[in-house]
Amino acid sequence: MDNKKLIDRDLSVLWHPCSQMKDHEWLPLIPIKRGEGVWLEDFEGNRYLDAISSWWVNLFGHCNPRINQRIKNQLEQLEHVILAGFSHEPVITLSEKLAALTPPGLERCFYADNGSSAIEVALKMSFHYWHNNGRKNKTRFITLSNSYHGETLGALAVGDVALYKEIYAPLLMDVITVPSPDCYRREAGETCEEHSRRIFGEMRKTLQQHADEVCAVLVEPLVQCAGNMRMYDPVYLELLRQACNEFDVHLIADEIAVGFGRTGTLFACEQAGITPDFMCLSKGLTSGYLPLSVTLTTNEIYSAFYDEYQNLTAFLHSHSFTGNPLGCSAALATLEIFEQDDVIRNNQALVKKMAAAAAPLMAHPHVAEVRQRGMILAIEMVKDKQTREPYPWQERRGLRVYRHGLENGVLLRPLGNVIYFMPPYVIQPEEIELMLRVATEGIDIATKD
Ligand SMILES: *Cc1c(COP(=O)(O)O)cnc(C)c1O
Repeated sequence: MDNKKLIDRDLSVLWHPCSQMKDHEWLPLIPIKRGEGVWLEDFEGNRYLDAISSWWVNLFGHCNPRINQRIKNQLEQLEHVILAGFSHEPVITLSEKLAALTPPGLERCFYADNGSSAIEVALKMSFHYWHNNGRKNKTRFITLSNSYHGETLGALAVGDVALYKEIYAPLLMDVITVPSPDCYRREAGETCEEHSRRIFGEMRKTLQQHADEVCAVLVEPLVQCAGNMRMYDPVYLELLRQACNEFDVHLIADEIAVGFGRTGTLFACEQAGITPDFMCLSKGLTSGYLPLSVTLTTNEIYSAFYDEYQNLTAFLHSHSFTGNPLGCSAALATLEIFEQDDVIRNNQALVKKMAAAAAPLMAHPHVAEVRQRGMILAIEMVKDKQTREPYPWQERRGLRVYRHGLENGVLLRPLGNVIYFMPPYVIQPEEIELMLRVATEGIDIATKD
């Protein structure tokens, strides 16, 4: 079997996600045969360092023996069972552990099988909670500019990345969008904290004006990942938590990308010391092994649905694979590795190593900013360093970096003009150096003319 044959077969039957398929007339599609640790290998023996954790899901490397074993054990026991009226041990243990590990007060777990669905669950639950409490005028949501919460119509509606959303606008519910605290947009001389505080003024004003009709505010805590890895200060979350309490509006934390150690703490909300009313988790939940997601909420919210059946207050929402036992066993193995290997603490050395390896790029004539929060590091490529004028998107400069990466054994997948690293936590220091060397060469090539 070689790459070429598989590519031909693939391109005659598949439709790939988030892709202009015509690009593959000249952009190589890469069939992967096997994975081990941070490395992926194709059918001709070429190896690629997975610097983006296969779309931000992988935590402990590909084919991790400990996770493999847990899934194999579970497979011999039970592959799947309906979760309505039935239960199983992995989902119970996982729920106990998640309730213990997430910020205090999050005590109920509702499962789905992907991030977008976890968001849909949170939106519906929030709306339904107010409905059950007689607050029937609460029907809207507040979201941040540049935010991303998934691709299904509800999740798409509460996001704000034009490239994914604009075309579908006629199909989407109307949301209230307020400016993101995105620190890249701070003014000269302003710190990120000052900027986050100042921008919060807009959120406060909006809450004051609209609280009566608003169910919840949604945020991606600390890093807007799909929105070009833009970052902001934890103080924004603190202020938002206070204001949501004051105005009787729920706070939904979408930790689908940032949860499980990405920002340096197990959950990003910890850095602000807050408990949201809903927390959505997926991606790293199973170390990127199997599709699973969970929406955690408080007993207070849970109670508003708990009543005689005839009163029709129940949350009658389900997915076929809700709480799949194999997914839950992968998640249990994940949590065990966090605990046994002291991952959060050990990652600190990798965080420092990434910072040091990327530091020289700050002086690059076409790099406006190198920003980092924990295990996420991003480089903003610009046409003009002084004015921060971006390269026109049509030039697809990031794609040049992508191609250079592939030719040199590193899987990078820039977001527009932003090159970023979100590697598995098992990456070695010398692999961080390789990743940065190849990315730097790629940036040089992509910005040459
Ligand atoms: C990936 C992502 C989602 C959507 O998850 P899917 O599993 O792709 O549906 C939602 N929110 C954030 C912040 C994400 O990064």
